Amino acid sequence: MENASRKWRFQVDSEPNKSINLSIYAVLDMIRQSLDKKDQRIVVPLGYGDPSIFPCYHTDAAAEDAIADAVRSAKFNSYSPSLGMPEARRAVAVHLSRDLPYSLSADDVYLTAGCVQGIQTLLTALSFCGPDANVLLPRPGFPIYEMRADFAHIETRHFNLLPEKNWEVDLDVVEALADERTVALVIINPGNPCGSVYSREHLQKIAETASKLGIMVISDEVYANLTFGCNPFVPMGAFSSIAPVVTLGSISKKWVVPGWRFGWIVLNDPHGILHQSRIVERIKSYITFTMVPATFIQAAIPQILETTKDDFFFRINNMLREAVDTCYEGVQEIPCISCPKKPEGSMFMIVKLDLSLLEGIEDDCEFCVQLAKEESVIILPGAAVGLKNWLRISFAIDIEALKEGIRRLKAFCQRHVRGTQA
Ligand SMILES: *Cc1c(COP(=O)(O)O)cnc(C)c1O
Repeated sequence: MENASRKWRFQVDSEPNKSINLSIYAVLDMIRQSLDKKDQRIVVPLGYGDPSIFPCYHTDAAAEDAIADAVRSAKFNSYSPSLGMPEARRAVAVHLSRDLPYSLSADDVYLTAGCVQGIQTLLTALSFCGPDANVLLPRPGFPIYEMRADFAHIETRHFNLLPEKNWEVDLDVVEALADERTVALVIINPGNPCGSVYSREHLQKIAETASKLGIMVISDEVYANLTFGCNPFVPMGAFSSIAPVVTLGSISKKWVVPGWRFGWIVLNDPHGILHQSRIVERIKSYITFTMVPATFIQAAIPQILETTKDDFFFRINNMLREAVDTCYEGVQEIPCISCPKKPEGSMFMIVKLDLSLLEGIEDDCEFCVQLAKEESVIILPGAAVGLKNWLRISFAIDIEALKEGIRRLKAFCQRHVRGTQA
């Protein structure tokens, strides 16, 4: 009793940033609640970006063998070196250098438990740039950046991606948003949620803008090489002589093993600017205290990166190409939905809802809730990624399930077209 009435000192006295306090998972869980349990049909999951549950997206046997070998050797049961195993860091450096005009070294690579821990580490390090530092984030984007920035007490400002220009960064807005407390600009390439793949020219312009503003570029390349359109993937690091670039990545999407939790932070810092700023010290100490990925994953990494055959990646990209064609053609036939640009990479398509054509549906969230209820199809409302009244469709699922999902989406829209109700 006495304890209950006493005033404890650790009261939370500020609210999380309301505009971004729901993760994609939380939003999708909410939509799942609306599923009609009496519907006998399979649920079509077009919301999550995790195709690993589908047998056709099973990871490569070489990757599984590497993990099994590492575990069975009994050589990797100890604590890891604090910054990770040098062999694993070196293997990531070699792997990424294949797409770069120069070679990374093992010391440029820091290992993280997936790309998300990379985001967390970097934003925490940036919080040491001062209490009023801010970072520039894309809209639409990936809400973990906003959440992690909020935890690190870093202000976020948003620039739009331009649908009519392949979802490129609006660099005029970037310049207008930045001030002397701006420390970084984030891009996601290939894009989530837009499926865009940026050209060399655009990446160079981004680097030039960052240089002019005196800020670093954080390039989230978790979908690196998952491309199936005209633009090939070019790493932002190729422009690091213009402005320093920190690349974030992981094996989660490319090897379709998001549960394995292995990723990296890579410093593309040919002029030593990141080192001089002492950001690197903070990254190192944060990683030392938060622990690197499990040792058997680290031990398996050289074998995974070296022995996975190109055939595996060709097969995945071919499946994604077929899926995006199916999805794009399908939505073209639905009048209340439009797609400004067919995706060329990643696993997502973002489409605009024309609510004026629909009866009794207020917004994207209501659309997704009703769709789940009536058709057992799960789609992410655009609001969850910063674009209200759009929808993000994850097309990386089994192709027959995708076709079925698009059919049901179409039927749903037809049923709700204005004027068809009594
Ligand atoms: C999936 C995703 C991540 C998270 O990657 P993990 O390696 O699973 O932590 C980070 N950024 C973007 C843009 C993503 O889509």
